Amino acid sequence: MAEAAPSPLRNLPSVDRLLRHPDIAVLLERHGRPEVTRAIRETLSALREEARSGIDEALIVASVLSRLTVRASTRLKPLFNLTGTVLHTNLGRAILAEEAVAAATAAMRQAMSLEFDLDSGRRGERDDHVRDLVCELTGAEDATLVNNNAAAVLLVLNTLSQGREAIVSRGELIEIGGAFRMPDIMARAGARLREIGTTNRTHARDYESALGSETGLILKVHTSNYRIEGFTAEVGARDLATIARRHDVPLVNDLGSGTLIDLSRFGLRKEPTVREAVEEGADLVTFSGDKLLGGPQAGFIVGRKDLIAAVSRNPMKRALRVDKIRLAACEATLKLYRDPDRIAEKLPTMRFLARPVSEIRQQADRLASILADALGQDVAVESVPCQSQIGSGALPLDTIPSFGLSLKPQGGGRAVEALSAAFRGLPMPMIGRVAEGALVFDLRCLDDEDLFRQNLAPLRFGAAS
Ligand SMILES: *Cc1c(COP(=O)(O)O)cnc(C)c1O
Repeated sequence: MAEAAPSPLRNLPSVDRLLRHPDIAVLLERHGRPEVTRAIRETLSALREEARSGIDEALIVASVLSRLTVRASTRLKPLFNLTGTVLHTNLGRAILAEEAVAAATAAMRQAMSLEFDLDSGRRGERDDHVRDLVCELTGAEDATLVNNNAAAVLLVLNTLSQGREAIVSRGELIEIGGAFRMPDIMARAGARLREIGTTNRTHARDYESALGSETGLILKVHTSNYRIEGFTAEVGARDLATIARRHDVPLVNDLGSGTLIDLSRFGLRKEPTVREAVEEGADLVTFSGDKLLGGPQAGFIVGRKDLIAAVSRNPMKRALRVDKIRLAACEATLKLYRDPDRIAEKLPTMRFLARPVSEIRQQADRLASILADALGQDVAVESVPCQSQIGSGALPLDTIPSFGLSLKPQGGGRAVEALSAAFRGLPMPMIGRVAEGALVFDLRCLDDEDLFRQNLAPLRFGAAS
C-alpha cells in the first residue's frame, strides 16, 4: 500500500498537534485525554490505510469528533415501543410508574434501611419492605422476592424437590423465550421431572397415581404463551390443592404474569389473579414483577409461612436476591395497587392497556400528516386500525383493537427494511412492526407526542436521502 502512494504519511498532522487543535482541546474536559487520543489515533490510522494525500485538517478534526460521539453514546438506549406489544420482553417489558422511578432514584442516591430495622435499631431483612404489602394485596400468609420469576421457580423447585420428583402435566411443560424451559430448569434445580398425562388431557387420577414417597411437589404452570384447545382436560387448581393436601405434598402454582387486579375492568379477558391462586389453595404461587404487575424485573414467591421460611433459608436465595434499587421500585409500584381505581392513571402498563381506541385513533390522525411531511412523496402514510397484544405471555391469543400509522414506501420489501432502519437510527429509535409491505407503528404505547415529533427532525429517507 505504501508503495502505491508516495508519501501520504508526511501529510498527516501529529497526534500532539491535533490534541492542541482548539476544536479538539475543548473535548478533553468532556471525554478525557485517553478517549480523545484514542479517537485521533484511530482517525489517523484509518487515513493511513486509505493512503490518501493532501488531507484537509478540518476533515480530520470532524472525523475525530464523530468517533468520540459514537463512542460516548450509550448502547442501551431509550426508544419508542410502537410494536403494539405492551410488555415486550426485548424492549424491557414494563415501564415504571413515576412513583417507582422516584423511589429507585432515591435508593441510588442515598443510604437505605435495606437490611436495617429502624424500630429496633438492629439488623433487618430486605424482604420486610414488601412482605406486608404483598400479603395484603394477595391474601397470602407470607412472601419473598428474588431476581425474576425464573429465579423464583428455580428456587422453589430446588428448595422443595431437590433429589425428589416434581410432578407436572405434559400439557404444562412450557418453554418461554428459548432459555427458560421447564424441564431444563427442573434439572438445574436438582429435581426429577415426573411428567404425567398427555399433551391435551391430564386427569386427577394421573396425579394420584404419580404421587408417592418420592414426590417433592406438584407443580402447576400457567400456560402463559399458548393455549391448548379442542379435546382437552386439565385438573383445576382447586382440585389439585385437594389432592396435594390429601397426600401432604405442596402444590406450587407458577402463574407467570400473575396480575394483582382483574383485567376485565379494562375490557380485557380475565387472567387469573394472584389472590385467586392463593385462595384456590396453592401452597406457593410464583409470578413476575415486570409483566402485568407493571414494576421492575423481580420474581415473587407467596404462600405458606413455613414454606417461605424454607425458601428463604436456601443458600441459593442469596445469589438470586434483588438489589435496593429494584426493591424500592417494587415497594412503590405495589403501593399503587392500594387504590385500584387510579391504577390505570398511575401505572403505564395499565394505562396503555386501558387506552380507548378512539383516543389512539385521534392521535394517529394527528400524527399521520406530520410523518408524511417528514418522509416526503415516496412513502404513503396512512392512519390504520391494528391489533395490540399484551405480550410476555399474558393472554397469548387475545388482541386489543388499536390504531396506528402504516408507512408504505415505494419499492417493496427492501425499501421497507431501509425505512425501518432509518427509524431505528433516530436519536430515540422508533420500533414498529413490518407487515404486508408496510412499516406499522401501533400508537397504543405512545405517551409523549411532542418527543415523537421532535425526534423526526433528523429523518432522512426517500426524497431527502
Ligand atoms: C414469564 C414466565 C416465567 C419467567 O418469568 P421471568 O420474570 O421472565 O423470569 C416463568 N413462568 C411462566 C409461566 C411465565 O409466564
